[in-house]
Amino acid sequence: MNKEHIGFIGLGAMGRPMAKNLLKAGYPLTVYDLNPEPINELVACGAKAASSSAEAARDAGVIITMLPACDEVKAAVLGAGGVLEGANEGALLIDMSSIAPHTSKLVASEAAKVGVKFLDAPVSGGVTAAENGTLTIIVGGDRALLDEHIDLMQAMGKNIYHVGDVGMGETVKMINQVLAGINMLAIAEAFVLGTKLGADPETIYKVIRVSAGNSFLIDARVPDYLLKGDFTRPGFALDLMLKDLGLAIESAKINKIPLFLTGQAYQYFSMASSWGLGKKDMSSVTELLEEIVGVKVRTGSE
Ligand code: NAD
Repeated sequence: MNKEHIGFIGLGAMGRPMAKNLLKAGYPLTVYDLNPEPINELVACGAKAASSSAEAARDAGVIITMLPACDEVKAAVLGAGGVLEGANEGALLIDMSSIAPHTSKLVASEAAKVGVKFLDAPVSGGVTAAENGTLTIIVGGDRALLDEHIDLMQAMGKNIYHVGDVGMGETVKMINQVLAGINMLAIAEAFVLGTKLGADPETIYKVIRVSAGNSFLIDARVPDYLLKGDFTRPGFALDLMLKDLGLAIESAKINKIPLFLTGQAYQYFSMASSWGLGKKDMSSVTELLEEIVGVKVRTGSE
């Protein structure tokens, strides 16, 4: 059976490997990004290049967007030269970016006006899971639409959950980011504390990963980032975490829900961003604490 033609927009740290996995699974792909470099890389792998989001959407049964935040999604979908200008009636738009649930609902209702269907499907697992095709994909919208396109989702992810109506995928993703942001900060504080007190950071890592303090991010961030002091390798930009915590705080504010720890984490990441760490991986918040305390969490630093 011929696989559905896909338009893929947003070829950054996540979109690039996700698009490659779709190509590997045999989906014909037309790609677009503001940056020409990843377009060329995908073309070398067999994709077609588009010169706008509208063009990427033109012949596609499914259009996927993987963009930084609400403004970029609105620009690429609703703006001039955007997806809704090019998409055919009956096409499906799957937005996999992490954005505000109310923006997903807005985009879905604008899409519906021109006969385009919509799912919000943000992801978790980071660049490694994007490369390995093992992302967790958290889907909001019509369940039947997800079932119809499950093969395509499985080319990018392993754990695919339908969690409710449009916007609910983003809501559950936001909850994950509250936990991940606070946990990243806890890891940074704990490792800086331990190292300053004279413990060997590599030993702390070995002990914690089989103790109650363990978490997904201990393995995902300690060996390759903290212990190597390498915060520039591709990961999850600190400014994207700041954006996600901001989304949670915005929702909490509207609903009068206190979020003490999320608020503190937001301030920490905000300070780290002002200090120049915004484009580095979120684990670079450790660098700020290292500077304040005067210690480096590195292999062999005891
Ligand atoms: P990124 O900044 O690396 O990539 C975004 C890409 O979008 C860039 O290549 C940029 O040029 C492109 N872009 C921006 N505006 C555009 C527009 N109007 N039209 C076309 N292209 C445009 O971001 P990323 O790390 O790939 O993250 C993408 C989304 O996934 C974000 O919402 C992020 O929060 C989420 N996310 C990221 C990770 C991660 O580990 N990096 C994990 C889970 C979820």
